[in-house]
Amino acid sequence: MTGVHNEFEIISEYFASRHHHRQDVTLGIGDDASLCRPPDNSELAISVDTLISGVHFPTDAEPSDIGWKALAVNLSDMAAMGATPAWMTLALTIPKADSNWLNAFCQGLFELADLFSVDLIGGDTTRGNLTISIQIIGFVPFGQALCRNNAQVGDSIYVTGTLGDAALGLKVCLENETLPSVSDDNYVRRRLNRPTPRVSSGLALRHIANSAIDISDGLQADLGHILAASGVGACINIDALPLSSTLRKQSNESEIRQLALTAGDDYELCFTVSPEFETELLSIEFEHPITRIGTIERQTNLRYINVEGQTIESAQGGYRHF
Ligand code: ADP
Ligand code: MG
Repeated sequence: MTGVHNEFEIISEYFASRHHHRQDVTLGIGDDASLCRPPDNSELAISVDTLISGVHFPTDAEPSDIGWKALAVNLSDMAAMGATPAWMTLALTIPKADSNWLNAFCQGLFELADLFSVDLIGGDTTRGNLTISIQIIGFVPFGQALCRNNAQVGDSIYVTGTLGDAALGLKVCLENETLPSVSDDNYVRRRLNRPTPRVSSGLALRHIANSAIDISDGLQADLGHILAASGVGACINIDALPLSSTLRKQSNESEIRQLALTAGDDYELCFTVSPEFETELLSIEFEHPITRIGTIERQTNLRYINVEGQTIESAQGGYRHF
């Protein structure tokens, strides 16, 4: 174990010496700013997310999971824009220079960065309450980004993967429980702590989807953002919501549905597609299977039906900070 004492030792030991994936970084860590060369005819997609200890993750969370998730939530934003993630900066505030913590944090962070060939190109290192802020920068061919404001009446609404698993993971963690099956227990904890951003799905949707968002605060809240931005409404078939076999095993059906609709942290994508693109959509082999859950409507509210078409009372909203 190497001792690190000051900011510059931390930067050089943990961040500046990393393996680099990308040719398009002209100047990396070490100067006053880094220099990157985006492809011709592309737009930059830029987003930042902050994770605060005790707010976004429990104070006893595994540092490697913290590193993974801090980047995962940002990659998920790139996925939702249909952007190729390329570069990140890291503003790290730590209470002390703890080598064990830093090693584990970097192990999780760079495991995910390596999976998506994202280079760390700069940042800031300060002392204080544990706070991790990652800015991600990606690119998308000019005019092809997937935005929230273009859902059209008649679009089909889809989601990737399954909903509610991370919420079950959180419940298990908070209540200090374990699920009866070890593999189920591992699965829901992994869904919570190590979400896999749906970057490849976002890229595949570029020419196809009218709108997209990633589900960080729950389907109901996040689809609500698409509806508000697009000035439309939606009808969701609650019996069509994709649920994992692990979630289905839980006894209380209305609780399962509540988790799938309103709980956050799944980091799946929700997107809308006009009927003329649906054949093309269904011919794509998605890494995480997609499910059609409803339709965009003219009337600007979000309503729920069951498989028989009967109206269902709506559930309560997603997580809000304020
Ligand atoms: P400045 O004083 O010019 O802001 P700093 O001393 O903060 O520069 O940082 C020195 C170099 O190290 C810069 O290139 C900066 O981007 C990089 N850096 C600092 N902290 C981090 C970090 N946590 N991760 C990656 N790069 C970092
Ligand atoms: Mg600085």
